[in-house]
Formats: sequence, C-alpha cells, structure tokens
Amino acid sequence: MLDSKTIRQQFLDFFQEKGHQIVPSAPLVLKNDPTLMFTNSGMAQFKDYFLGNKVAPFKRVADTQKCLRVSGKHNDLEEVGHDTYHHTMFEMLGNWSFGDYFKKEAIEWSWELLTEVYKLPKDRLYATVFEGDAKDNMPQDSEALALWKQYLPDDHILFGNKKDNFWEMGETGPCGPCSEIHIDLRDASEIAKMPGRDLVNNDHPQVVEIWNNVFMQFQRMADGSLQPLPDRHVDTGMGFERLCMAIQGKQSNYDTDVFQPTIQFIAAKSGKKYGENRQTDVAMRVLADHIRAIAFTVADGQLPSNNKAGYVIRRILRRAVRYGYTFLGFKEPFLHTLVPLLADQFSGVFPELKAQQDFVAKVIQEEEAAFLRTLEVGLRKLDEIVKSGVQTIEGKVVFELYDTFGFPLDLTALIARENGLVIDEVGFQAEMAAQKARSRNAATTEAGDWVILLEDEESEFVGYDYMQTNARVIKYRAV
Ligand code: ATP
Ligand code: MG
Ligand code: MG
Ligand code: MG
Repeated sequence: MLDSKTIRQQFLDFFQEKGHQIVPSAPLVLKNDPTLMFTNSGMAQFKDYFLGNKVAPFKRVADTQKCLRVSGKHNDLEEVGHDTYHHTMFEMLGNWSFGDYFKKEAIEWSWELLTEVYKLPKDRLYATVFEGDAKDNMPQDSEALALWKQYLPDDHILFGNKKDNFWEMGETGPCGPCSEIHIDLRDASEIAKMPGRDLVNNDHPQVVEIWNNVFMQFQRMADGSLQPLPDRHVDTGMGFERLCMAIQGKQSNYDTDVFQPTIQFIAAKSGKKYGENRQTDVAMRVLADHIRAIAFTVADGQLPSNNKAGYVIRRILRRAVRYGYTFLGFKEPFLHTLVPLLADQFSGVFPELKAQQDFVAKVIQEEEAAFLRTLEVGLRKLDEIVKSGVQTIEGKVVFELYDTFGFPLDLTALIARENGLVIDEVGFQAEMAAQKARSRNAATTEAGDWVILLEDEESEFVGYDYMQTNARVIKYRAV
C-alpha cells in the first residue's frame, strides 16, 4: 500500500518534473490578509499574483497547503466527524500557472497523475464542466469539455452551474470556470444499482470530489460584465486526505495512515475500539480531526483567546474536550498528549510543529484543564434542562453556560441537538449585547494569561518565547 508520505511526495515530484517550483505551505493564520481569518485554500497565499498587485517570482508553482475551513465562506465544522471526508484542517495539494500554461496542460497533467502515477481506475473518475449561464452572459466551458472528451466517455462528464463550477474571487476581480474531478469508490455491486454520475455532488461518502481545477480567464467588472484577462491563470486544489483514501482503497479518510495512528492512540487510551460503536467512532474522529487544527494553528502563531481567530480555536478545542469527556471518558486533559505523535508524523512536511512541540502541548493542556474545571457543572445544568422536558433552551441559560461555564454557543447548540432540543439564539444575542454594554468601560485583557508584544498588521509571527512566570511572550518581527 502506498503510504501517505509517498503520495504527497509523488505529487510534488510530478509537478517539479513539469517545471514547477515547490514552495512551502503558508501559515494557517494569514497576518497580512484582513479579508481572511485563516488560510482556507491553496491560492490564498498567491492572491496578489492573480490580482496583479505583485509579480509571481515563478510562473509554475506547486505545494501542499495547510487549510482550515471553520469560518466564513467555507465552514465545514458541523460535518466533521459525522461525515468521513470533511475536515477542519486538511492539506490541499495544488499546482499553479501564473500566466503560463492553461487548460490543456492542467487537464492533461491531472489525468496523467491520477491514472498513470497513482493508477486510479479510469472508469471510476468523473469530471464536471461549467455549463454556462445565458442570463448572466457566461459562456459554457467548451474548451474544458473538449479536453475531457479525450480521456473520459460522455457519461463521465457532467455539467455544473455557477455555484459549483464557476469561481470568483469577489464581487469584482479575476474569475473563471472550474472543472472538478470526482471519484466513485463504491463496490461494483453498488455501482450496478446506481451509476456514479447520479451521486456526484450528492454528499455520498464514497462518491467524492477530489480535485478542483480553476481556470482564471475573466475579469468581473463593476458593471457585472466579463472581460477576458490578458494573463490567464490556473489554480488547482486537491484534498490530500481524500486522495489517500482513494489510493489506499479505504472507505473513509480516517481509515488512511494519515489518521489511523492518532485514532488508534485515542482508542487505546480510552479503552474503546474504533469501529464498534457509532457514537464513540464519531468522537474519535472529531478528536483526531480537531487536534490537528488546534496544534497546527497554535504552532502558526494563533493562541486560543476570547475573540476572533483565537476564539475559533478555543471553540474547536472545547468541542473536542467535550466529545472526549462525554463519549470517551477523558476526564483529565488528554488532547495535548497527541501533539508529539502529530509532530513526528508531520516533521518532514510541516516541521514547525516539531520545532515548538512542547510549547504547543503546554498551551493545549492548560486550555483543556481550564475548560474541564467548568465542563462537568455545565453539563449537569444542561442535563437538568433536557430532563425538565422543555423544547427550547432559553437565551438566558445559553448565555449563563457561555459566560460562567465557558460553553461556546455552538457547543450548547450541538448538545441541544443531540437531545432533540433547540436553543434560543436571539435571546442569547440579546444577553450578550446587554453584557457588552455593561462592560464597555471596564478594561478587559483579551489575551488572558498571554502577553502579546508587537502584534499588529505590520508584524510577522516568528515564534514563541518563554518567561519565568506563567505568561508567555509571543514574538513578532516588525515588517
Ligand atoms: P466539497 O464540495 O467536498 O465540500 P469544495 O468544493 O468545497 O469540496 P474546493 O474549495 O473545491 O472544495 O477545494 C478543493 C479540494 O479540497 C476539494 O476538491 C476537496 O478534495 C478538498 N476539500 C475541500 N474541503 C475539504 C475539507 N473540509 N476537508 C478535506 N478536504 C477538503
Ligand atoms: Mg465545501
Ligand atoms: Mg464541491
Ligand atoms: Mg470544489
């Protein structure tokens, strides 16, 4: 079986041989992009090249990019653990052409890589092509269609609409059609009952999208019209964990060697087996997923805190702690013990975790300990509410759980859902607003125990440093 390290390396080698410069992943936290809280795609770090603000130093680039999809336009958090192919943090393999090659090479190479290097079965692959939109004066992508016809029979090519097959950076700016590759990993007997094409883009866990090829060829103008771009670009993104699932012949990303070491560690420590019970399986997957997001984000300079990106990380962590507590019996801090495992597993590709392993583990351990101090009482409170037979958890209670017991809103909503209840979110927001008004003049230190030096838009995160006290100093280098 091809292991995940080899799969990643083969991707990079393949594109290097085709003249691409291999570059490192950008950090998960983009300090110089106010429009994006976290890096959520491979192209994020190259945005300025597409916008024409900067000239790309290389015309062809490839990499594996750490991505986080837990906020904004892409938020996959609710899927994680319940489905088997969406993660909070994942690796996006990508190749780019900045004004160099275009559709012909991009499609040819994606086909060559998948079928000749990785030897994925051709009859299991599907491609989607932009169908056009007459109302909006957008042409069908007949070029991509003709190219795919060289490799795939007609019934393996599907047309997609603006939503799925046309990419735009924003209201205005570079844009263009995209072409996705999907793979059908079901048993032959299942395929005989229903062709894969009926399941493409249908949330089927074994018929999944693996690769997206975006062809930037237009500029969306302020009046809504499309103008051809003088320089046309290619931007592709392939889900590494999904690719591993396909190549390794697994049913789930979590069954690949990307996640199995973590899952087996969690299983052993909890005294439960993976694959025996749906509820504990989901919990193990959530932990295996969330710890990656937390560990790599902390390593990239974002500490858990009470607002913005820091609170996103705190929410993910608390969600994981509660899954571990309720379903796997982890009553003491546990997540931090997974850090050394991850640090070793990814030391070759993302050495930043290994380099700061002890610090990252310590941050996570303290966060876990802090939440575990209030979790049990909060859960008991919720339990009483569930038992009382109400349908809706009052905003006042949701707020108390948030304010006194550290339950993020989405965590209370999740537990409510598990018990067939809903929460009064409007009531919660009202309580929240009232509290903000009360404390408007009171000085708050948002970073809590952490002392942040020099953090502003003009600085770049360079690493953590220790002080003798409980507090840490985060170093930023002015840029
Ligand atoms: P999906 O439709 O499955 O949510 P997407 O269309 O949102 O995927 P893209 O933005 O096209 O995804 O990203 C490129 C590739 O990254 C996808 O083809 C997929 O393989 C992978 N990918 C996207 N989101 C995730 C995720 N949350 N976890 C793991 N891989 C992902
Ligand atoms: Mg998506
Ligand atoms: Mg999609
Ligand atoms: Mg896509």
